[in-house]
Amino acid sequence: MKLNRLQRRLVTILAGLLTVILVLVVILIFTERKPSGSSSPGSPAAVQGSDPEAVAGTRGCVTNTEIFSAGGVEITHRHISWGSPRRPGEIREIKYITIHETDNRRSGADAGAHGTLLAENEAEITSWHYTVDDSSIIHHVPDNEIAWNAGDNRTKNGGNINGIGIEMCVNLTNDYEKTLRNTAELAAELMIAYDLDMDRIRFHEDFMNKECPHRLISEGRTDEFLEMIRDAYVRKKEEVKHSEEETTESGGE
Ligand SMILES: [Zn+2]
Repeated sequence: MKLNRLQRRLVTILAGLLTVILVLVVILIFTERKPSGSSSPGSPAAVQGSDPEAVAGTRGCVTNTEIFSAGGVEITHRHISWGSPRRPGEIREIKYITIHETDNRRSGADAGAHGTLLAENEAEITSWHYTVDDSSIIHHVPDNEIAWNAGDNRTKNGGNINGIGIEMCVNLTNDYEKTLRNTAELAAELMIAYDLDMDRIRFHEDFMNKECPHRLISEGRTDEFLEMIRDAYVRKKEEVKHSEEETTESGGE
């Protein structure tokens, strides 16, 4: 009888301890699972700061600049989370803007669908920085981080190591002409943000033997498209100059 009471007391104590441990484990799991890559748009420091390695890698390298719109189209920031094989998180110097096409003609294959693919499917390592369609732009990887899209491995001064990859949608329900205009505007914004000239605009085929962007090349429109980028760049450059002049005239207020 005495032993039984002792046993009962022991069981109660053990059960209490187990509950405490269980609660602690649950708390730990939830803290761990908090996605670090989904920090709010417009907080580049937070995006970089979520990985100590990335912060260490920023020394002497180009810093990321978040762009919020291009040609009136809002840019949706949906960064691939840390830990995904699609986001190695290596900081590098930005030297090129690489133009691709998704080559996916299915009607639903718009920028949003590609954003979902990159964020949720971790079966591959392929990734790029932006996807553009006729009405939206999705940002997948911070500009100053490597993304594997040029097919040239770790070639020095190559597309993978130094390029910002932009995929243009070619799905059947997409207005390709609008997509070209949106991409030209985005490229021009990036040129200004990272001080890149027209000779830094590349097509995927410049880095590897692949006809990409396929439709643009096969329709013989690459020069026309480069002109679109140049026009957008010159116009934006003028806008920047004017706003700087206005700031100077108003006494820097
Ligand atoms: Zn490509």
